[in-house]
Amino acid sequence: VSLSYDLAFEAPYETLIPVAPRIRRLLTHNPSAFTFKGTGVYVIGEDEVAVVDPGPASPEHLSALRAALAGESIRYILVTHTHRDHSPAAQMLKEWSGAKIYAYGPHGLGPTEGGDHMEEGVDRDFMPDVLVRDGDVLAAKDFSIECVFTPGHTSNHMSYALREEKALFTGDHVMGWSSTVILPPDGDMETYLASLEKLLARDNATYWPTHGGPIRKPKAFVRGLLEHRRERERQILQSISEGHATIPAIVRQIYRDVDPRLYGAAGLSVLAHLVHMTRDGRVKTDGTLYLESHFHI
Ligand SMILES: [Zn+2]
Repeated sequence: VSLSYDLAFEAPYETLIPVAPRIRRLLTHNPSAFTFKGTGVYVIGEDEVAVVDPGPASPEHLSALRAALAGESIRYILVTHTHRDHSPAAQMLKEWSGAKIYAYGPHGLGPTEGGDHMEEGVDRDFMPDVLVRDGDVLAAKDFSIECVFTPGHTSNHMSYALREEKALFTGDHVMGWSSTVILPPDGDMETYLASLEKLLARDNATYWPTHGGPIRKPKAFVRGLLEHRRERERQILQSISEGHATIPAIVRQIYRDVDPRLYGAAGLSVLAHLVHMTRDGRVKTDGTLYLESHFHI
């Protein structure tokens, strides 16, 4: 299994630079524990362009983005999903350029949506102009983009394939520096795993994630992500079979080496696995599916 994250990724902030044929990237100045070095905004094409995930609505970023895109003819504004480090700048970009916003839908309207009361960092104001579906193709002068539906990280997560370069813009579904976070109920482990399997059937040569550098051996990387989750499932099943019936007890056991300040996020990740494993019958519960629920085999 070859799951090695590239933690050496660097790029100048708020500067649009070419990174591959037909692809430029501007790294937003918003580094954090969740965004790594920041949000990578991708610009596809030359004369007529598509912008993938315009980024957050901070004044510094908006003025840099506007300056970087001055003189570009923007045909498509594409949004992978409704987290605040990805989608809010779409509205301003639309106002400056007149281009339409394309996405699967507003927040929580994907197939696994079940309320979003626990989520942080959600862009609830986001409203696309055009709803895209799996397999839709968006054509421009010198490129075409295929919409690849990849729910799991959020229920509305869409990836975008630049067909001429066999490139896939994976948003937060596959990231360069870490595995992604799945926060129930909008985040869903079962659909996330299915969306990883879906990528294995494609022939993309390079993934361009929103956070981190390009992934050059994408299938090996995806297999590594799948194995990482299977290993986590094995640990959770083992922990429950040893009598650890609650999520805090499971977290204390299987995240023994992790900073306790991360136990909250770890608990939600274990919950995401347990939602999946109770649905398919591997784990039983007292009837509820919350952080306080009791689980048994
Ligand atoms: Zn996200």
